[in-house]
Amino acid sequence: MGLNKKSVDDINVKGQKVLVRCDFNVPLKDGKITDENRLVAALPTIKKLINDGGKIILCSHLGKPKGEPKPELSLAPVAARLSELLGQEVKFAADPEVVGPNAKAAVEAMKDGDVILLENTRYRAEETKNGEAFSKELASLADVFVNDAFGTAHRAHCSNVGVTEYVKTSVVGYLMQKEIDFLGNAVENPVRPFVAILGGAKVADKLNVISNLLEKCDTLIIGGGMAYTFLKAKGLEVGTSLVDDEKINYCKEMMAKAEKLGKTMLLPVDTTIAASFPDPIDAPIEVSVVSSDAIPADRMGLDIGTETAKLYADAVKSAKTVVWNGPMGVFENPILAKGTIAVAKSLAETDATTIIGGGDSAAAVNQLGFGDKMSHISTGGGASLEFLEGKELPGVAAANDK
Ligand code: AMP
Repeated sequence: MGLNKKSVDDINVKGQKVLVRCDFNVPLKDGKITDENRLVAALPTIKKLINDGGKIILCSHLGKPKGEPKPELSLAPVAARLSELLGQEVKFAADPEVVGPNAKAAVEAMKDGDVILLENTRYRAEETKNGEAFSKELASLADVFVNDAFGTAHRAHCSNVGVTEYVKTSVVGYLMQKEIDFLGNAVENPVRPFVAILGGAKVADKLNVISNLLEKCDTLIIGGGMAYTFLKAKGLEVGTSLVDDEKINYCKEMMAKAEKLGKTMLLPVDTTIAASFPDPIDAPIEVSVVSSDAIPADRMGLDIGTETAKLYADAVKSAKTVVWNGPMGVFENPILAKGTIAVAKSLAETDATTIIGGGDSAAAVNQLGFGDKMSHISTGGGASLEFLEGKELPGVAAANDK
């Protein structure tokens, strides 16, 4: 069902100037884009607006220039690559003020169907403070605003929230709509059984996600570093594994909540241990697998064990909806990536709706070549987590209602 927001399908922008907030925050190495997923994901909205015959002004942030022009964080390489992907020139409106004389002149010169890209919005210090002046400057360029940047939807900045106060029409793009539909449906209206898998380093980062998903899902699976705080809360010895002692009570509460709600919570039944954390992270490492109630005091848990991987894969097999966020172990190391790979594989093999909640798990799934086997891979790490927490995202809320 998702949210009832106006989308690009509800408007026709013929002859109008449209400011489109995209998420072009792509990884760069020596001026080359190393992962262009976010550019490809933005194409459907841009093409729709070109077909309407609008004048399309794209904008985005890139990295953290901290309010000043940093040539290595210029969006110029994105304009070049986007031109190739679109098969049409995307003119780069180089301008240290983002909306300065150069950008304004470039907009003035546009014809219907033209596309330009503004400079990195975070060259301006007001951007991340949702300042009024920069919001107004952005809005002054356009008649219509389209927000297609899910990756920043959990932040209220000038280019995704402030700007909407000064344009008449604000709608969401196709990518944003897809994110809202998949994540929103999974959480609010899932086809059951609904299995949620959470991993990653720290419990503290995912407190609200655990609590909210417990209410919505049928089975909650816990892996990764955060599992050891749960195991310790159960009274088990976890050796030198990552533990957040301040969150032990919280874990106890969550286990009690699961029981009260009649939900299944799965914790690792065995674990892959080593003498210490690998250094460097991908260094060869000697490991063994022990039962979760037999972790020696001087050993560290760094991945789920083989039995756990099977248990989790079986739970996925019985699901109709699966949401996954966070690796099952230190997946950066091939020896400690087995649990994460097993879970990724089980998602790739099921016919269930599978949703990957951005960040590390999205990267892992893509790296393993399972990307096209998933129903949806979110383009936003932090944003998808806040969505799973059940929070309203300011970037989504700011769009006009239907
Ligand atoms: P997050 O950013 O919270 O999704 O966590 C991802 C990070 O958690 C990755 O860099 C993993 O290496 C790390 N991680 C996963 N399992 C463990 C573990 N058992 N001990 C320490 N770190 C872990």
